[in-house]
Amino acid sequence: MTRYIGAHTIVNGGIHMAVLRAGNAGMTALQIFTAIPRFYGDKATIKPERVARFKAALAKTRIKPANVVVHAAYVLSVATPDDEKWARASAGLTKELERSSALGVGAVCFHPGSAGTGDRADSAKRIAKAITVALKTIESDTRLLVENTAGAGKTMGKTAQEVKEILAGVPESLRARTGYGLDTCHLFSSGYDITASKQALTAVLDEFEEAADEPPSFFHLNDSEGELGSNKDRHVLIGDGHIGKQPFEWLMHDRRSSDVPLILETPQQNYDIAEDDDSPDPYDVKMVKLIEEFAGK
Ligand SMILES: [Zn+2]
Ligand SMILES: [Zn+2]
Repeated sequence: MTRYIGAHTIVNGGIHMAVLRAGNAGMTALQIFTAIPRFYGDKATIKPERVARFKAALAKTRIKPANVVVHAAYVLSVATPDDEKWARASAGLTKELERSSALGVGAVCFHPGSAGTGDRADSAKRIAKAITVALKTIESDTRLLVENTAGAGKTMGKTAQEVKEILAGVPESLRARTGYGLDTCHLFSSGYDITASKQALTAVLDEFEEAADEPPSFFHLNDSEGELGSNKDRHVLIGDGHIGKQPFEWLMHDRRSSDVPLILETPQQNYDIAEDDDSPDPYDVKMVKLIEEFAGK
């Protein structure tokens, strides 16, 4: 089994610097933002120079483009019943797929957002529609993946059933270009107890795989500051939260952690690193080593 382990590294100096920091930490996977995650980015195109710098940096590392994930902006709430907001979020998601396709990365992941006062089944359809529009507009090998959420408020994508419903709304001809990924912190805080036993963790992964008719296409490896079912989306270093280290070792021995990007989104030590400093973050290095140990590398 091959484990591709990486992190959402610090971007100071540009995405090519995030790549170099990942490479210098010995990572084989990576996550980045292509635009400021607090904005829709629906008009933000990516300059060819930026693409060239990114690709040149990636070629210096052991990270294959297929194992790079772009995390879409948090504000792209394509679950919303508000037509105007939906249109803008949908345009933002399509634009993200355009930028990410130019970079040649394996996938874009996104949080579907909140159904608000609307019906959840209708919301799943709106999310599927936004995925469909993006995939029809931008033809590329970059997949567009739903991320499970911590389940605060009316956020969609909280359960296996909801992920299934979202994906079921995408036309069959486009279905291979979409899928989903799982964040361990979000699973736990939305009420899936992945800590009880290895069997319990396996059962949760089975539930998602059976519902969606495919295994997860990425994992986010985060410990959780919040308790089981707290719906809190606060990541902490592995071993510092309520999940603890053991479930991550179980996960590394599950076939589903093989051949997909395994991305740490845990706290880093040096957020103010100089723009031209490509040294890896000490916390990232520590976390990657820990996961590699669990994987038996
Ligand atoms: Zn996320
Ligand atoms: Zn999170």
